[in-house]
Amino acid sequence: DINAEIISVGSELLLGQIADTNAQWISQNLAHMGINVYFHHTVGDNYDRLKSVMELADRRSDLVIVTGGLGPTEDDLTREVGADILSQQLEIHPQVLTKVESFFERRGISMTENNRKQALVFKDGKVFPNEEGMAPGMFVDHMQKGWIFLPGVPREMKSIFSKSIIPFLKERYPFKNQIVSRVLKFIGIGESILEERVSDLIRTQTNPTIAPLAGEGEVTLRLTAKAETAEEALSSISNVQEQLMQRIGDYYYGRNDETLEQKVLEMLKSHSYTLASAESLTGGRFIDQLISIQGASDVIAGSIVGYQTKIKENVLHIPDSLIKKHGTVSEQCAREMAEQVQRKMQSAVGISFTGNAGPDASEGKPVGLVYIGLKIGDQDSVVKAYQLNGSREKIRQHTVKKGLEWLFY
Ligand code: ATP
Ligand code: MG
Repeated sequence: DINAEIISVGSELLLGQIADTNAQWISQNLAHMGINVYFHHTVGDNYDRLKSVMELADRRSDLVIVTGGLGPTEDDLTREVGADILSQQLEIHPQVLTKVESFFERRGISMTENNRKQALVFKDGKVFPNEEGMAPGMFVDHMQKGWIFLPGVPREMKSIFSKSIIPFLKERYPFKNQIVSRVLKFIGIGESILEERVSDLIRTQTNPTIAPLAGEGEVTLRLTAKAETAEEALSSISNVQEQLMQRIGDYYYGRNDETLEQKVLEMLKSHSYTLASAESLTGGRFIDQLISIQGASDVIAGSIVGYQTKIKENVLHIPDSLIKKHGTVSEQCAREMAEQVQRKMQSAVGISFTGNAGPDASEGKPVGLVYIGLKIGDQDSVVKAYQLNGSREKIRQHTVKKGLEWLFY
């Protein structure tokens, strides 16, 4: 196994002006190749600090990838520090220099001396062309350790990495480790309950490892396996997935990039159902999420956003007597909204959302009290009540999720 480290150079990263997406992207790509990344190190444009970070990396890692600081300006120091600690001389690379010069010629601007810097490469290193910019990528072998240097501009970094670094690394490290991940997604079960049900597996499983993640009303488990081939890794993932499914399969809805919206749409399609929504607190968000999926037009009829009470009365035709008696945040109103929208849009399914998203109580109903109504075909309509927590935004988001969740089952 080889241990890699990524050094991101740039004071703007430390100032929080930009996020270190390079390290993230490189890590993902190294993981695909079966290379372990043990450290991400971020350092500013400062000679001594960059040097100490690079010295540390040289001691603890087999492969070091440095991004940023290869440009023409005063604060771009990566080359100089690299030459220093790797005992390398810098020399002008003729082709790169020609490229830099002709770039300025084409634009009709005179090239300043500092731009020559971009054509400086390590004397004993390997050079990887930069098709998107000036400074090339570089590789230096330093006492069995590999050092890769890449420009900071993400587009340039990615281009060099994909075209040259991946093939180069595959050849240099013909290791057979493949790391494969699969994300399993669950809904309708709380994070802690789900974890409890599989906690022994989470604790004891090492290949694949199981990592729980919670977010926006759903729980996911990431299974990561290592093996000589991708097929082997996948088969050990499938084995563990099967064990997990026996315990929590009821709440499973999809994997990897599959979304609940997609699954709901597929389900509706498979029943040849069309769907319409009547939305109050969700303001059309529910229907928006479904319409954003390609092919929604076969399934989604439309939506009526009836936010103010008078619109519920005049457009959705909720009887004024019902609202007077029960209020708009009520089981009765939700039921009537679902039935009305199904009728008006002549859809198989009518779903409705009404509730109090806050921040203040209204009609004497607490913040977070939400009713979802569902009417399918000529079956009796059903209403579910939820007491949701959080900000107005959270409550509205969560309401949409609950609607999708209900439809999915
Ligand atoms: P240039 O030749 O353009 O000067 P460089 O190799 O010197 O490239 P930097 O000057 O460090 O690279 O960064 C150039 C730009 O690339 C930054 O302004 C920033 O927007 C982006 N960048 C640099 N490092 C990162 C990073 N780790 N993650 C995301 N973006 C980055
Ligand atoms: Mg720069």
